[in-house]
Amino acid sequence: MSNDITFSIIKPDALGSGNAGSIISRINKAGFRIAALKMLHMTRAQAESFYEVHRERSFYPELVEFMSSGPALVMVLRHPDAVEEFRRLIGATDPVRALPGTIRADFGTNVRMNAVHGSDSPENALREASFFFSAIEIF
Ligand code: UDP
Ligand code: MG
Repeated sequence: MSNDITFSIIKPDALGSGNAGSIISRINKAGFRIAALKMLHMTRAQAESFYEVHRERSFYPELVEFMSSGPALVMVLRHPDAVEEFRRLIGATDPVRALPGTIRADFGTNVRMNAVHGSDSPENALREASFFFSAIEIF
């Protein structure tokens, strides 16, 4: 399995508060290259399907509500060991637990509105990238 791509979302909280530019700048400065990027407003059904793996979790309804609450930026990013390196860059799920200097520590609001998504495995990176992009849209 190729491990040079990950999938990310600049979530509705961060895009809505005007932080997308700063976050993309951090991502580029950390050495990630943007392989695909677009803005979209997920429907409830799309958010439900994207987060299917969390369907049984108590936070699932609120997560789906949040992710379909406004537009977001979806991205495919390239970097050696992209999944692991990107998760290091964004920090822990809960911004109060994320290390200082990470994107979630600096731009997240709470454990749900945590500014960015990052894939948790190379397999899921491919699934998530192909959920939003066709092969000819990934450079
Ligand atoms: N989430 C939430 N409440 C929680 C845990 C997670 O609303 O208690 C949301 C949050 O937006 C998180 C997403 O659900 O980013 C997916 O959760 P996961 O455990 O996969 O965290 P991640 O991989 O994003 O760090
Ligand atoms: Mg996850």
